[in-house]
Amino acid sequence: MISPKRAATVRIAVVGLGKVAREQHLPALAVEDRFTLTATVSPDDAGLPGIPHFRSLDALLDTRPALDAVALCTPPQVRSALAAQAISAGLHVLLEKPPGTTLTEVEALTAQAARAGTTLFAAWHSRFASGVAPAREWLLGRTVLGASIDWREDVRTWHPGQRWIWEPGGLGVFDPGINALSIATAILPSPLRVDAATLAVPLNRAAPIAARLRLRTAAGAPVSMNLDWRQTGHQTWDIRVETDEGPLLLAHGGASLSLPGDTVAPLPDREYPALYERFHELVRTGASDVDLVPLRLVADAFLIGCRETTPAFDD
Ligand code: NAP
Repeated sequence: MISPKRAATVRIAVVGLGKVAREQHLPALAVEDRFTLTATVSPDDAGLPGIPHFRSLDALLDTRPALDAVALCTPPQVRSALAAQAISAGLHVLLEKPPGTTLTEVEALTAQAARAGTTLFAAWHSRFASGVAPAREWLLGRTVLGASIDWREDVRTWHPGQRWIWEPGGLGVFDPGINALSIATAILPSPLRVDAATLAVPLNRAAPIAARLRLRTAAGAPVSMNLDWRQTGHQTWDIRVETDEGPLLLAHGGASLSLPGDTVAPLPDREYPALYERFHELVRTGASDVDLVPLRLVADAFLIGCRETTPAFDD
């Protein structure tokens, strides 16, 4: 067993140089002096100038690199095998969301990381949106009467050509929808459960393009959820919570928060910088953070959901 390192500066490799790695992880790491980008891994990408690049994690690990951690930004279907390999090599692991394709595989990784003494971080990036912490704080101590989650976006704009997202384990519209659940489960003072779901699955796809869920808090407040990937024009990523003191609106995926009688202007987007701060703290303190609740709710929706077949959809 290789002993994991807990140095002040974490040498990290980014695995899977796709959309989220290039738009979020690499820019966040470029300004984060507690991490050093040491390598990249991606089968069909040329990599970055001056940074060693490998076609597979195997190829990187074969070089016995001076490395402390990996950020796994691949599609979820290949992520747990890569994570298991990285943990076996004594590396700390950041899992992009969703942390895996099944609850069991993530539980196995959690146990493996605990045995190995490495940090495992299931990184729910939307929880780091600037309105989420103040929303959670405001809702504490208030009575939640109900909530609605409205997450409607154009899949052709946000996921162009991503075949994996439509395949088993890709989650379909729950790929963005799980972000909403990661926020809702972070801000609502009482746990959520799924009572009913309808999943609309195109004739030519394995995963839903739209879904409607009926949920409830443990305290009995009804929560509705409307996910749709066929939205053109205005895009909506809103959570509205009705309370005994008026409504809270968390809009733009958690980036802006409106409270009764008061509007908080959107703060600068610090989702990924804040996410890496959290990862560094976990590595430094020898802790892990793997919250499975959002994935469990999606699994429950798939378990009890009625399926409706909709016309074939091509992107
Ligand atoms: P993507 O654009 O399809 O990128 C995934 C990349 O993973 C591909 O470029 C592919 O590399 C690489 N890859 C596939 N198999 C690999 C393997 N075995 N080893 C190493 N690399 C491998 O997908 P994405 O949008 O970045 O999403 C990736 C994950 O991040 C998903 O779980 C998604 O939910 C999450 N996420 C996405 C966004 C977003 O805005 N897109 C935001 C937050 C989170 P090659 O191109 O080299 O083949």
